[in-house]
Amino acid sequence: MTAIRADSLVKEYGDVRALDGLSFEVEEGEFFGLLGPNGAGKTTFINILVGLARSTAGSAEVFGHDVESDYQQARNRIGLAPQEFNVDRFFPIHEVLEHKAGYHGVAPEEAARRADEALKTVGIYDKRDTRFDWLSGGMKRRFLLARALVTDPDLLILDEPTAGVDVELRRELWELVQQLNDDGTTILLTTHYIEEAERLCDTVAIMDAGRKVEVASPDDLRGRGEDTLVVTLAS
Ligand code: ATP
Repeated sequence: MTAIRADSLVKEYGDVRALDGLSFEVEEGEFFGLLGPNGAGKTTFINILVGLARSTAGSAEVFGHDVESDYQQARNRIGLAPQEFNVDRFFPIHEVLEHKAGYHGVAPEEAARRADEALKTVGIYDKRDTRFDWLSGGMKRRFLLARALVTDPDLLILDEPTAGVDVELRRELWELVQQLNDDGTTILLTTHYIEEAERLCDTVAIMDAGRKVEVASPDDLRGRGEDTLVVTLAS
C-alpha cells in the first residue's frame, strides 16, 4: 500500500510559492528522507499532511485518505515529531501524553498504558512526573518522539529530529527510529545531515524551491560524488 501520495501539490503564501507542483510516493514500510536547503518547502509539505496548512492546488493522501477531505482518518494514522517545541508546559509529561491519546479517541486506561509505553520506548520513563520545561534538551527531543508514538501511528513524520543534538544522542535517536522502522512503521524524515539520510533512509527525495529535484537511494547520490549534495544541502 502507498503510505503517502502527493500529486502536483501547490502551496502559496501570498507571493511565495512554498510548494510548486510537488509529486511523489512513499510506500508502506519505507524509511523515506526529504532533503533540501532552508526554504525548500519540507515543513510546508509536512504541515499539509498533518492538516496545519491547506494546499492551494493539488492533493495529498495518507494510506489512501485525502488529508483535507478525509482529514481525521488520515491524521489518526500519523505521529508527528515537529521541529519546534510546542508542548503543554503545565502538566507532567505523562499527562501530556495521556491527553494527546485521549484527544485521538483512546479510552483513559489505555491512554495511560500507552503513555507509559511511549516513555519507556524513548528511555525517559523515570521522568514521567516531570514537566517538559524541566527536561534537558536531549530529553525534550526524546519526549517529542514519545508524543508522536502515543497514538500508535503507522506513519511517523520526523522534522529534523536531531537538529542541534550532540553526537551521542543523535546515534541513540537513530537506533530508536531504525528500530521503529524495522518494526513496521513507515517513516518520513527531513534532515540537513547527509550522514543521517545515508545511515537511515531507503530512499531520499531532494527538494528545492518547492519542487522535487530527484528521488534516489542514498548510495546512488553518494556514488555520483557529493558535490550535488553538498551544493543542495549547503545551508
Ligand atoms: P527549513 O529547512 O529551513 O526548515 P523548509 O524546507 O522546511 O526549510 P519551509 O519552512 O516549508 O521550508 O518554507 C518554504 C517557503 O515557504 C519559505 O520561503 C518560507 O519562507 C515560506 N513559508 C513557510 N511558511 C510560511 C507562512 N506561514 N507564511 C508565509 N511564508 C511561509
